[in-house]
Amino acid sequence: MSDLAGRLAAVRDGVADAARVADRDPASITTIVVTKFHPASLVRELASLGVRDFGENRHQEAAAKAAELVDLDLTWHFVGQLQGKKARQVRSYARVIHSIDRESLADALASSDSNVDCFVQVNLTDDAARGGVEPANLDALVEHVVATRGLTLLGLMAVAPLGEEPRRAFARVRELSDRIRLTAPDADELSMG
Ligand SMILES: *Cc1c(COP(=O)(O)O)cnc(C)c1O
Repeated sequence: MSDLAGRLAAVRDGVADAARVADRDPASITTIVVTKFHPASLVRELASLGVRDFGENRHQEAAAKAAELVDLDLTWHFVGQLQGKKARQVRSYARVIHSIDRESLADALASSDSNVDCFVQVNLTDDAARGGVEPANLDALVEHVVATRGLTLLGLMAVAPLGEEPRRAFARVRELSDRIRLTAPDADELSMG
C-alpha cells in the first residue's frame, strides 16, 4: 500500500471509530480532504483511492485544480474566506460553499436559475479577522440566507480555534445548530474542521 493510501486508511478508520463511539452511522459522515497548497496530481491520486470530496480555500488555486481535473467526477467544497467579487466564479465549480459569513456574500451568490448548497460559518474566536459570523449575529444571517434565492442552507461550519480543545468548541457549534433550526429547520448539518 502506498504511503498516501495508508494515511487515508488511517483517517477513515479514525472517523469510523469516532462514529461508533458516538453511536452514529459512519455513512452519515462525509470526510472532506482539504488539498490547499497541494498539487492537482495529489488530488488525482486521492481520487483513484476513492476520495470524491475535496476542500479548497483560495479561488485561484481551486479554479485551476477544478479545471485541470474536470475529467473526474469530484465534489469541490469552498472552505475559505470569500470576496464578493469572486463569488460567482466560485459558484461555477464549487458544489458546496462552507464560508458564508455576511449578508453581502449571500447576496453576491444569489441566483434565480440554479441552487448551490452552503453553510454559514461561525467564528468561535474573539478575533473578528478570522472567518465567520459572531454568534450574536448568527440568527439574522441565517434568516437572510434562507430568504436568498439560489442558496440551500445545509447547516453551520466552524474551524476549531487554536488554544481550545476542539471537542469543547464544537459542542458550542452543536448548541448554535439547535438554535438556528428554529429559523431553518432543515439546516441540520455540521461542517467542522
Ligand atoms: C484551510 C481551512 C479552512 C479555511 O481557512 P481560511 O484560513 O479561512 O482560508 C477551513 N477549514 C479547514 C478544515 C481548513 O483546512
